[in-house]
Amino acid sequence: MLKLGITGGIGSGKTTVCQFFEILGVPVYYSDQRAKDLMHSDEVLMAQIRQAFGRDIYSEDGILNRKALAAVVFADPGKLAALNGMVHPAVFRDFDRWAAARKEVPYVLKEAAILFESGSYRDCDYTILVKAPRELRIRRVVGRDGITEEEVVRRMDAQMSDEDKEARADFVVLNDEAQLLIPQVLLLHERLLQESRKR
Ligand code: ATP
Repeated sequence: MLKLGITGGIGSGKTTVCQFFEILGVPVYYSDQRAKDLMHSDEVLMAQIRQAFGRDIYSEDGILNRKALAAVVFADPGKLAALNGMVHPAVFRDFDRWAAARKEVPYVLKEAAILFESGSYRDCDYTILVKAPRELRIRRVVGRDGITEEEVVRRMDAQMSDEDKEARADFVVLNDEAQLLIPQVLLLHERLLQESRKR
């Protein structure tokens, strides 16, 4: 079984592309969502977070105070790095377990916004970048999340550039609403099925 990492900047459409792969029967691991879930289910991770951020960061019934945690890590880059240093290994462990339970499929996808930044790509056989023009990405996120254009630009500029991601990616899907998306996904799917047969 091949492990593929799929990434893209904010509003590029990586989740949309993953949904098409899911329709084709490809299992998709959504790293950001799983990371959030693991903060409530992974005992090792929860113990590390309690130790680093204080017992009160979780309520009596184990609910994480996300607002308090966000306030601490946004104010202190060292604390953010510490949190990432706990969450990323937990996601690696969880992805490995998840993938091991799906050995019979030709390939799986790991969707991650920070695939290259987190080092997560090292665990993948190939990587896919979903790309879209900046203006279109801004319009999509403003429409989807109802946040200001300035806020989208701020988040966009905090991410690794598309140029840097493209230099590292094995495959690119162009989601610019001019090139048809589904044929690109089908072509890539065929290619990945072929690759998986070579293994
Ligand atoms: P984020 O990193 O912010 O989670 P993302 O890369 O996962 O974003 P999506 O959530 O897939 O992006 O797409 C952003 C928005 O743009 C969504 O509302 C989605 O429905 C829309 N969108 C994505 N691709 C297209 C497309 N080809 N045509 C029309 N709308 C699209």
